[in-house]
Amino acid sequence: MNGEVSLLRPAVSNPATRPELSDTLRASVMARRTQVTELLKKAVSEFGNEITFANSMGAEDMVLTDIILREQLPIEIFSLDTGRLPVETYDLMAEVEKTYHTRLKIFFPRSDTVENYVQSNGINAFYESIDLRKACCHMRKVEPLGRALKGKKAWVTGMRAQQSATRADLPLREFDESHGLEKFNPLSDWTEQETWAYIRMHEVPYNKLHDQFYPSIGCAPCTRAVAVGEDVRAGRWWWEDPASKECGLHVKK
Ligand code: SF4
Repeated sequence: MNGEVSLLRPAVSNPATRPELSDTLRASVMARRTQVTELLKKAVSEFGNEITFANSMGAEDMVLTDIILREQLPIEIFSLDTGRLPVETYDLMAEVEKTYHTRLKIFFPRSDTVENYVQSNGINAFYESIDLRKACCHMRKVEPLGRALKGKKAWVTGMRAQQSATRADLPLREFDESHGLEKFNPLSDWTEQETWAYIRMHEVPYNKLHDQFYPSIGCAPCTRAVAVGEDVRAGRWWWEDPASKECGLHVKK
């Protein structure tokens, strides 16, 4: 199964990550920043310190990281390290810690579960069936997410409605039945252009794979570059049907 991050490095830089910063776009992004800040402040006033932000280190999550840390909002930020992330994501984690003078809170999968899975199925078994792929996502992402959300009453995500068919009707806030928490999606109605305009305007750190046509970045073996005009999440689990392409972190009951 070809297509891993380290195998595909287009020479041309992705123009989508460098939108032209017109006055109209700048004004629109600043207005949206105010809306997001207000929503997050409202979330804090409702849920206090029982709210947490799941930072997957994607472009949208970098926007939220920047807003939360610059506004000094009392929202915990955590990330999941699946053990199979691209080196560029680890570089970004280090850059975020240096830029914002912070230490990321990182959750890892249970080592005994990973050892058993690999021993039984093989090191790259996720390519062999959807069940094995979902089992891998469950042990490396879903189970650690459950630990990260334990004791919380609300969580924040960087999902956008335009990212995929499975997110088309994404609201700004909703009750997440699968985790029993309120869920805030402050960037749900942002465009890709607004996301990148924010990053450029505020010099926010970002994953350099985005410049190489990786709009959505997950684990290295399950992510590849997309063609111009392709769906934003077409490079994730590209061998599967689009309707099944979520990792289990954002499923609805
Ligand atoms: S994205 Fe791939 S490597 Fe990462 S947890 Fe899911 S199946 Fe495993």
